[in-house]
Amino acid sequence: VSATSISVVLVTGGSGLVGSALKYLIDNEPIDSPYGRRKDEEWVFLSSSECDLRDIQQTREVFGKYRPREVIHLAAKVGGLFANMSSQHTFLRDNLLMNDSILQVSHEMKVRKVVSCLSTCVFPDKVEYPLTEEKIHLGPPHSSNFGYSHAKRLIDIQNHAYHDQFGDLFTSIIPTNVFGPGDNYNLESAHVIPGLIHKCYLAKKNNTPFTVFGSGEPLRQFIYSRDLAKLFIWVLREYKEIDPVILSVAEDDEVSIKDVADAIIEAMHFKGPVEYDTSKADGQFRKPASNAKLTRLMTESGAGEYEFTPFKLALKVSVDWFLDHYDTDA
Ligand code: GDP
Repeated sequence: VSATSISVVLVTGGSGLVGSALKYLIDNEPIDSPYGRRKDEEWVFLSSSECDLRDIQQTREVFGKYRPREVIHLAAKVGGLFANMSSQHTFLRDNLLMNDSILQVSHEMKVRKVVSCLSTCVFPDKVEYPLTEEKIHLGPPHSSNFGYSHAKRLIDIQNHAYHDQFGDLFTSIIPTNVFGPGDNYNLESAHVIPGLIHKCYLAKKNNTPFTVFGSGEPLRQFIYSRDLAKLFIWVLREYKEIDPVILSVAEDDEVSIKDVADAIIEAMHFKGPVEYDTSKADGQFRKPASNAKLTRLMTESGAGEYEFTPFKLALKVSVDWFLDHYDTDA
């Protein structure tokens, strides 16, 4: 293959949880297999140390360097419930600026397709469950992360505006709670699974109680980062709509926070006391999402219904990754 026919897929947020799962696939799946790299593709995983995507000029420079044909936009200021509650404005502004630079520069440079990553928190707080793709803009999001949610919702509006006015193929996906190897384990900002993995590890090491925040009763649909990465590749190859598609396990595959804690305790062989600190917020009680659209489209495309990795197995891989890689002094 001559150098001129190589097409670049640029992944923003390439060193994050989902970006590193995509990198894992690209490095490990056979070339030209359904979830592998195509032989005429080069994948570039961009990290925040290379470019501040909030700055449109820096974004133009990095896009000028790589000349991507396709973009997977994962870069975002993200955090768990507690980080969002304490910095609404930072979550709003950092994400607005990043999304604007990425989409505008992709438009200027005639990128063929952009797939951006949203989150189920874009959905209205008061809504009829299950969540489906057409319900995003039907009411205000939950107050606990309104900054982040509004910035993410606007990506869908931007995608439609770019399509409407210029015909750009900019689309988005909505994953439920993602977890996996290489997560953010910082206790201040972690989501529940990496947060509890880290806390259980410390409780075991220090002989202290393992403290879970809230009642343990809220329910979530968790998606393993390596499953999400495969679905992302399917979307990049096959999905043709501007509207988002939800990437999730089935609606009845909800797991309680207590189930998560118990699975971590088992994977860590933790034998000490477990406490539920009900002075801490529970957040939304549940927010089940439907994967009916995904299932229908994958079946129609010939890929067939996606088989998700069982939760406990994926959690075990994630705990083992943490134990193998975590710097105990961090
Ligand atoms: P959410 O799904 O957007 O609400 O975000 P999280 O991944 O942060 O999950 C929050 C849920 O997990 C809430 O019900 C919290 O009360 C519960 N939770 C329990 N312990 C922890 C913890 O140590 N960290 C976090 N982030 N959430 C916790």
